[in-house]
Amino acid sequence: MNNLLETPIEYLKGVGPARGELLRKELGIHKYADLLSLFPNRYIDRTRYYRINELINNGSEVQVVGKVIHLKTVGEKRTRLVATFTDGTGDMELVWFQGQKWIRENIKLNQPYVIFGKTTAFNGVFNMAHPEMEPLAEHEASLRSAMQPVYPSTEKLTQRGITNKVMSKMMQQLFMETQALFSEALPQPLINELSLLPKNVALFNIHFPKSQDLLTKAQFRLKFEELFFIQLQLITKNLIRKHKIKGHPFGSVGSYFTDFYQNHLPFELTNAQKRVLKEIRNDLGQPAQMNRLLQGDVGSGKTIVALMCMLLALDNGFQACLMAPTEILANQHYLGLSELAEPLGINIKILTGSTKTAERKIIHEALQSGELHIIIGTHALLEDKVQFANLGLAIIDEQHRFGVEQRSKLWRKNDIPPHVLVMTATPIPRTLAMSLYGDLDISVIDELPPGRKPIQTVHRYDSNRLKVWKFLKDEIALGRQVYIVYPLIQESEKMDYKDLMDGYESISRDFPLPQYSVSIVHGKMKPAEKDSEMTRFAANKTNIMVATTVIEVGVNVPNASVMVIESAERFGLSQLHQLRGRVGRGADQSYCILMTGEKLSNDTKTRIETMCRTNDGFEIAEVDLKLRGPGDIMGTQQSGVLNLQIADIVKDKEILTLARQYAIALLKADPGMIAPENTALRNAYIEMTKKKNIWNYIS
Ligand code: ADP
Ligand code: MG
Repeated sequence: MNNLLETPIEYLKGVGPARGELLRKELGIHKYADLLSLFPNRYIDRTRYYRINELINNGSEVQVVGKVIHLKTVGEKRTRLVATFTDGTGDMELVWFQGQKWIRENIKLNQPYVIFGKTTAFNGVFNMAHPEMEPLAEHEASLRSAMQPVYPSTEKLTQRGITNKVMSKMMQQLFMETQALFSEALPQPLINELSLLPKNVALFNIHFPKSQDLLTKAQFRLKFEELFFIQLQLITKNLIRKHKIKGHPFGSVGSYFTDFYQNHLPFELTNAQKRVLKEIRNDLGQPAQMNRLLQGDVGSGKTIVALMCMLLALDNGFQACLMAPTEILANQHYLGLSELAEPLGINIKILTGSTKTAERKIIHEALQSGELHIIIGTHALLEDKVQFANLGLAIIDEQHRFGVEQRSKLWRKNDIPPHVLVMTATPIPRTLAMSLYGDLDISVIDELPPGRKPIQTVHRYDSNRLKVWKFLKDEIALGRQVYIVYPLIQESEKMDYKDLMDGYESISRDFPLPQYSVSIVHGKMKPAEKDSEMTRFAANKTNIMVATTVIEVGVNVPNASVMVIESAERFGLSQLHQLRGRVGRGADQSYCILMTGEKLSNDTKTRIETMCRTNDGFEIAEVDLKLRGPGDIMGTQQSGVLNLQIADIVKDKEILTLARQYAIALLKADPGMIAPENTALRNAYIEMTKKKNIWNYIS
């Protein structure tokens, strides 16, 4: 029966070459199977019939049973056909602008019809333009049920007469020709365990739902199947990578690590840090390349984990590198790591765009000879001139700023690729991570170091600025420092700079010298100028830092305890959260103040409300995902990955989790899917990987 599904679509009765061409072009439907998996976007509830005297003028879609008692053509040049339709409780008008001749010839007066469509009222008379119309008897006999599917369509398709009704008819034809016998792909034990509908029943009810209950079950079954196959693919790839891509096993824990752990840890590690280190150490001990994502909210303490991983590399005779997206951040890492590693006598250097030529040369040589153990840097590390003696571990901070291509460039610096640890403070919602990075291992630091006071976040309108300024003065009087951040969005750059400079001027007026001093940092300044301003602020020589989102990534000034975000309505949720993470790094109570105008869209209200409610980056990421959809979050490049047929990554995360869990269990028990009960599964899997190996470029 499956062979039949390979039949080109034009052979389906009622399709033919012209419509076949349209279906191919507009919806990518080439054969029966493609049509079968064109799932409805939504369903119209046609269980309810309306009486004409109970219609209300709200533009909703209604269904009425009645008879056409009169038919006339109205108008001179551009005529329309108007039918008087009655059901005994009142009259309404049906109107056609197109296809008048056909309607006139085919419509039967005084016969019961079911009509369906949107009504509007004009001069107290309801009318329905181009109603869907069907003789009552035919309507009752059809496969179609009360839950009427609405299929994806395009303007062209409707123009050329392939309406939703036509689509439904084609689907009906497909089910008749195939006798609705579709072979099962999921293993029977799995179907039993989860009480899934059999494939046949599920497909039937997705297109012709017999009841809401069966529709729900059909949707569940098909979503599960879709996500299950994706997970099978991701997990299989991960297993293959672990077998095939060789890596340097860091077999021993040596003196650097032990010395540091026993004698120089500046604080006790949190349980989350310990757990993550264990996960990473376990990976590093294997003769396969590690490819791990380390997620941890701002301030969760990723740096020390990074250092300890690098020490493991050193202990095993390898070099390590850490790459950061900006010079400021690279510097900060350099300072932090040098300080931590100081007592160990390790050779650490930094390489960025502004490293002087002479110094650069020394670094290049030291890296090549192996004399230099750890290098911190920016994109400058990716240059061809940078060659390592034996790079064993590459750590990448703030992964979303580096393209995939750049990452793999780092790998290619050796025959055997280094282990890769990608650190990100942008918490990717677990569901999304599971579907996008399912073939990457993921570690999460989900606990902040002890003693931190949660940041208090409030929303203030611009009209309350005086009170906010008063608050800032009180905090400054207590010795604290303040960030005031302005949005800088590319397209409106000029305006934004004006806002920033105006803001800076008025702040300088409101916080005058000599009592106060105000710094400013923005993207148009030279790196050296920027750095010197940042350094002044970090050394507590200025009270207020006025900035654009330049400071978004990484800056660490523990004494800064207030973050004011201007025009907060213009920032996305994850950006707001990142910015807020600049404060709350010391022992003091910290605050984040979101300034906005009076008029806010609903989405903005949700963003602001979410920020005020929670500090949990994962919760925020989930809300962000709901507001923006997965494509926006991961960037357009990856959004194609999320082109799912029926499941929805945001709405169906429980099903995704379930699918992943069962996929892992199945592959654990039967990695090659060779057990007899998995034969159909394996065949379907092979078919799918032939068609849709879209995951290649992710890691
Ligand atoms: P992020 O994850 O944002 O990179 P950092 O590594 O910069 O976070 O750590 C933030 C701050 O918390 C640093 O000042 C660091 O020294 C401190 N820190 C990290 N881990 C701990 C811990 N276990 N106990 C106390 N302080 C810690
Ligand atoms: Mg960091």
